[in-house]
Amino acid sequence: MEDIILLSHGNGGENTRKLVEEILGTLGNDILNELLDAAVLPISGKIAFTTDSFIVSPIFFRGGDIGSLSVYGTVNDLSMVGATPLYLSLSFIIEEGFTFSDFRKILLSIKEGAEVSNVRVVTGDTKVVERGKGDGIFINTSGVGIIKNGRDWRKREIKDGDLVIINGGIGEHGISVMLERLGIKAGKSDLAPLNSLVLPLLDRTNGIKFMRDPTRGGVATVLNEISRKYGVGIEVYEDKLPLKEWVKESAEILGIDPLYAANEGKVLMIVDSKDADVVLNFLHEKPDGYDASIIGKVTKSSNRVYLVTHIGTKRILDTLKKDILPRIC
Ligand code: MG
Repeated sequence: MEDIILLSHGNGGENTRKLVEEILGTLGNDILNELLDAAVLPISGKIAFTTDSFIVSPIFFRGGDIGSLSVYGTVNDLSMVGATPLYLSLSFIIEEGFTFSDFRKILLSIKEGAEVSNVRVVTGDTKVVERGKGDGIFINTSGVGIIKNGRDWRKREIKDGDLVIINGGIGEHGISVMLERLGIKAGKSDLAPLNSLVLPLLDRTNGIKFMRDPTRGGVATVLNEISRKYGVGIEVYEDKLPLKEWVKESAEILGIDPLYAANEGKVLMIVDSKDADVVLNFLHEKPDGYDASIIGKVTKSSNRVYLVTHIGTKRILDTLKKDILPRIC
């Protein structure tokens, strides 16, 4: 009989202990192994704290799976506020009948993701729901990081002429997961941890005034969030958008604008124009930044986001009105 997770693995008894041992065998460390009701963390300073839930479908996709996505998604949210990611919590909601072999694959992917991004899983939980009441597995996370002096960009003023920079190709996660669902083997998610890219960059320059990872809703949504939060206009140059050929072609066939498709290894930054060279030179030397480009500019003469098309016309780039890509992360 296939080795599957049963409701009894969530009842707190003998089977739950076995499931927890399975997790400790892969992810264990001195804090997690204590198995206390709460992890006790030896940290002090300015602390960043975030939470996220992962419901991606399919669970395994080209470029990652729900495990690595959970780790990097959380690591990236901490990195965006200039925090060094340190500790994660992981909470699994598993549907009865999910196989142990898939669960082990996800644990290994979490372990690798945590090692690559230098974080530790220090607390967690497992719950099992009846068949038909879940969809394989959902993961909820939280993350804690610490913000070193000089990396907190929040008080820097965004002004006319500031530039919009992205570290590479747009829309790769969203489009590739969509292709995966259609059974088309093309492209790959851009899923990657961003801490080793953005934290040294924040140490190099004080010119970064805003950072966000354009996940759900994509680049267009984040630009609209910036526009609304700071009351500024943003012009985006269509001919400057870094787009891989497979993204362009698939987006056209699927009828999805890559500007609204999710990214999982991209950072969108507002940068003072005098610091743009420092930022671009730094990014261009990194594997996750060689395609970095200036894709737009802040303008105080409006408070909307505009796309300047390759023929020079302007159109409003609005926020996403309907969910074209559900369950992408
Ligand atoms: Mg984010």
